Amino acid sequence: MGTWDVIVVGSRIAGASTALLLGRAGLRVLVLDRARRGSDTLSTHALMRAGVLQLSRWGVLGDVVRGTPPIHRTLFHYYDEVPVTVSIRPSPGVPALYAPRRTVLDSVLSDAAERAGVTVRHGIPVTGVLRDATGRVTGVRTRGRRTGRDTAERAPLVVGADGLRSVVADAVAAPVLWRGEAATNVLYGYVADLPAAGYEWYYGAGVGAGLIPTHDGLTCVFTGTTRRELDRLLAVLPPAAALTLLARRLPGLGDRLAAGGEWSAVRVVRGVPGFLRQAHGPGWALVGDAGFWKDPLSTHGMTDALRDAELLARAVVAGLDGSAALTAALADYQQIRDRLSRPMIEVVELLASMTWDRTRIRQLLRHLASTMVEEVEALETMAAWPPPVRRAPASEAGAIPLGAPVA
Ligand SMILES: Cc1cc2nc3c(=O)[nH]c(=O)nc-3n(C[C@H](O)[C@H](O)[C@H](O)COP(=O)(O)OP(=O)(O)OC[C@H]3O[C@@H](n4cnc5c(N)ncnc54)[C@H](O)[C@@H]3O)c2cc1C
Repeated sequence: MGTWDVIVVGSRIAGASTALLLGRAGLRVLVLDRARRGSDTLSTHALMRAGVLQLSRWGVLGDVVRGTPPIHRTLFHYYDEVPVTVSIRPSPGVPALYAPRRTVLDSVLSDAAERAGVTVRHGIPVTGVLRDATGRVTGVRTRGRRTGRDTAERAPLVVGADGLRSVVADAVAAPVLWRGEAATNVLYGYVADLPAAGYEWYYGAGVGAGLIPTHDGLTCVFTGTTRRELDRLLAVLPPAAALTLLARRLPGLGDRLAAGGEWSAVRVVRGVPGFLRQAHGPGWALVGDAGFWKDPLSTHGMTDALRDAELLARAVVAGLDGSAALTAALADYQQIRDRLSRPMIEVVELLASMTWDRTRIRQLLRHLASTMVEEVEALETMAAWPPPVRRAPASEAGAIPLGAPVA
């Protein structure tokens, strides 16, 4: 009998959420992350309605959004046209949208997972998976940072929540079901004293941008363009100047940035085309970017990570009766994930190609909005979850591997 029911690799939005829900369902969960506790990561922070709904249902929204302004409207600036304002209708669990800093969001989720009995260890790189004689994944190999020694942790299920360059997905050779070709290249930073009316998105010829109010009175400002254009600019300009130059191509934005206050350092993110991977196999599953990566212009990676964390956790609990039940439940997880994701994949691929004109961009965004409505409706029809805790947390009970019925 092992110590863990599930090992989750990655402790940010996908991993911490999955672990939180599994912990609340009474499973014995270990989370490993090579990053420092509370560290930052690449993100422009915008959560969409389905993401806020999930945080609200899990009872963590208040902690996540403390100190970050509510977003009540979205402004779309198309080329030189008058901006279009769309109000964010409050709905049960979603009083507004929010764009929390990742240092806050990931930490709140990770802390909530610990309160649910999950063991979270930081500074531990996972270097590969363990397998039994049949090839089934049975755990992970880790490398001690200080000792440099390899150690092993075992569990009947390993969840790769380890992001875009997932070591778990590589180790299990997770098949790629779809791969895109387009990718935007992003420059972003934080500006003080730059008021925004809500989420503000700008679209022009070969360039997009956004203003996203976040924690500490700061506005996250990003520009996106093609790889060729980004490389051309960065060959002659530092990142902050390149961002400013791109912003000046969007009517009104350059002046607004010039009137703002102090800037943080500007980050450069070279794009990676989207992909959808097989989400499960014998002894393993993927969640978040590890299984489904899409261009940041979608501003939807975190929202999907929250959705899929719950779909996966439900599947794991539904599969507690044995490995056949688990396989069937994980197949359901993948089927629902793909049904909700496929329509978005196609429109995000077109957005990321940055080949729109002023008519086409409106059509693409209308299409993107309709995929988001379907996602919210799907989540709203799911019953409240997880079920009440069914057994004592890890520190108090003996290990029960997945596959054995829960008492
Ligand atoms: C520039 C940019 C802007 C974005 N803006 C938005 C936005 O506005 N809205 C939105 O919804 N999404 C946005 N996204 C996407 C969003 O950031 C991701 O979808 C989200 O972070 C995915 O979360 P995750 O938990 O799956 O992976 P990650 O956040 O990548 O976390 C993975 C974790 O796994 C750990 N890890 C990796 N490998 C190992 C290993 N071998 N051993 C141990 N630990 C490991 C890492 O340390 C990390 O903590 C943006 C992305 C980028 C790049």
